[in-house]
Amino acid sequence: MTQKTRYRVHDGRRYKVVRFRGFEGFIVRWTASCTGCLETEDGHHVGHYDFDEKAKCHLGAGCEECGYHGKTRREEWVPFDEADYLAHEWREWKKERAAS
Ligand SMILES: [Zn+2]
Repeated sequence: MTQKTRYRVHDGRRYKVVRFRGFEGFIVRWTASCTGCLETEDGHHVGHYDFDEKAKCHLGAGCEECGYHGKTRREEWVPFDEADYLAHEWREWKKERAAS
């Protein structure tokens, strides 16, 4: 099956359409502190961590998980129409709950 790559404009930016559970969305990627080596307690850092200006996050002490960089690349699927998607998820959740 060949599917043509489609694009949609969202908030003034052009995104490649990625379908998930029948909904159209897009992938966002960003860099964040590594949860494996950056310790926090109640949202506060335990110890001192350097701040990475470019990635806009603090760097962990380094561990195997992040390849000793202290930061990792994250990605997440985001629906174009969030309200629609959440309503769908809510219906699915209710169905599941009613079935069990
Ligand atoms: Zn790490």
